[in-house]
Amino acid sequence: MNDADDPEDLPSLWSHEPHAHLMFRPGDRVADIDPDATPGFRGDKSDAPTLQEERNVRFAELQEMLYANSRAGDHRSVLLVLQGMDTAGKGGIVKHVVGGANPQGIDYKSFGKPTPEELSHHYLWRIRKALPAAGHIGVFDRSHYEDVLIVRVHNLVPRDVWEPRYDEINAFERELVDGGTAIVKVAMFVSLDEQKRRLASRLERPDKYWKYNPGDIDERQKWPQYQQAYQAMLDRTSTEHAPWHIIPCDKKWYSRLAVTELLIETLKRLNMSWPPPDFDVEAEKKRLESV
Ligand code: AMP
Ligand code: MG
Repeated sequence: MNDADDPEDLPSLWSHEPHAHLMFRPGDRVADIDPDATPGFRGDKSDAPTLQEERNVRFAELQEMLYANSRAGDHRSVLLVLQGMDTAGKGGIVKHVVGGANPQGIDYKSFGKPTPEELSHHYLWRIRKALPAAGHIGVFDRSHYEDVLIVRVHNLVPRDVWEPRYDEINAFERELVDGGTAIVKVAMFVSLDEQKRRLASRLERPDKYWKYNPGDIDERQKWPQYQQAYQAMLDRTSTEHAPWHIIPCDKKWYSRLAVTELLIETLKRLNMSWPPPDFDVEAEKKRLESV
């Protein structure tokens, strides 16, 4: 058993390893996703605060182990890819899940509308620049998948330009995985009703105006087209080396717990231990005593 293993590590409130419930399977339909569901979780909202706190601690410990190993020459890293419509809760994952870890080892990057400079390059140019360093956890708040989502829905480039991107993205991710980056892809789904409530609350609260963008309503009206684009993304880029996970997001407490477990599972699969000392511990203790 290595240090990253802990027989009591699977919280009893989950009925199986969470990824087994959440992984996209060929044939899964976006139209059938219930954003209010809590797949695999046997508890309820009242269990969430304590469990989230416990699991954040576990996540932070594994993240520190990844970081520590990189100091000892391990080049591996993790990349969390968050995709979802506005209000799905990407920011909440960043704040309440990833935020529990040491910022020293987190490489966060959000991807908005490309700048003129970014547009003058290949769409993966800005993505490559933001990849996590060895021992780090990269977090993409939106990602290269925008280039087959909003770009497809709004015809920002012709079909013969976006169409080959699915295969190109698969090859790109293969390259990352072969280079030692474990990729956790999370597609976050919020229902139209819940999205409406969340947008309405942004309009009610001066402290939330900054999150509101009038364009969100335009995207909302294009939900059928987005549904189609999300379906194509899942069908064509959920690979063995980088599978998609479907996260129901109407219950924020559930989506946060679920993504935390996906990260913990991924880190555990790296089979890490604390790096051994590259000095003589006893000799150092004696030296320290004498000064
Ligand atoms: P937000 O995440 O709320 O700050 O919004 C960022 C916006 O930038 C979203 O509407 C995205 O769809 C958009 N965006 C991100 N990447 C691209 C891209 N490659 N091309 C066009 N729009 C993009
Ligand atoms: Mg937004």
